[in-house]
Amino acid sequence: MIDFRSDTVTQPTEAMRKAMYVAEVGDDVYGDDPSVNELQSYAADLLGFDDALFVCSGTQANLLALMAHCERGDEYICGQQAHNYKFEGGGAAVLGSIQPQPLTNLADGTIALDDIRSAIKPDDIHFARTRLISLENTIGGIVLPESFLADTQALAFEHRLKTHLDGARLANAAVASGRSMAQISEYFDSVSLCLSKGLAAPVGSLLLGDERLIAKARRWRKMLGGGMRQAGVLAAAAKLALTEQVERLAEDHDNARLLATELAQIDGFELDMGRVQTNMVFAKVAESIDVKALAAGLREQGILITPGATLRLVTHKDISGVDVVKTIQAIKSCL
Ligand SMILES: *Cc1c(COP(=O)(O)O)cnc(C)c1O
Repeated sequence: MIDFRSDTVTQPTEAMRKAMYVAEVGDDVYGDDPSVNELQSYAADLLGFDDALFVCSGTQANLLALMAHCERGDEYICGQQAHNYKFEGGGAAVLGSIQPQPLTNLADGTIALDDIRSAIKPDDIHFARTRLISLENTIGGIVLPESFLADTQALAFEHRLKTHLDGARLANAAVASGRSMAQISEYFDSVSLCLSKGLAAPVGSLLLGDERLIAKARRWRKMLGGGMRQAGVLAAAAKLALTEQVERLAEDHDNARLLATELAQIDGFELDMGRVQTNMVFAKVAESIDVKALAAGLREQGILITPGATLRLVTHKDISGVDVVKTIQAIKSCL
């Protein structure tokens, strides 16, 4: 199947499967797993942090970050479109007693600095305590401008707030902008990073931060049932995600641009090419097109999409340029 539903569908590489087979392992709850320890210290060096924690998912990495930065009755500021507000089941509120303060995301994925400034609560018993600003990069496939990261960090300093980056697709942001993951991470006290999306690891995310933050996160991870034992089997594959899969993302970005360019020429599809910056293509579909029928027709030709009034098509390592050309022809034939 040519699967555009998400980059989470990527299959682990041959090298990953071999690394998993030969991985040296131990009990990671005791800190004894050499492959996990190796991944964590490699990632901390790569992104420029003191320490890192290997966790089962991006959702868990974000939740641990929020719970490590904030106490009960604290608040984090984030975008309305933020994954850690909108798509994580309200975990920070449910499990951390932490209040989200979501703010409008502008078209370029940023949040107006004045909106952030006026959402920061003064020290007053009526209010939750504002502790943290959380951003997401990439957001909807868009790379946040570096000036926005710098301005947000300055604002956070001014108000003694911490900063977190949901960097599920930080590697895509880095490759698209020609900056390193460390350079983008400089503006943040903590970063979460998914290894199981475009980077093709079977399972796993990382949380990066200073030693104190990671120690708190490790405690919450255990409480949440996320203490894994011989997790080195997963960490061995996850390390290859960082060493062998990052630069390859440029191909996914090229394929997304090709897909978007071709799609924009088909009647009934409306695209904003400025938003096609990494591996995501959003296409508004005219009402005259039956999207469910289109999805069913494509499925018969071995192509998977999630139907919707706006299609989100995601490119990744298991979709080639030839697959994109085939998909465009299939869409035309279905229509
Ligand atoms: C996928 C994703 C997550 C969560 O990752 P899971 O591993 O699916 O829990 C968090 N943030 C963003 C921006 C994501 O795209």
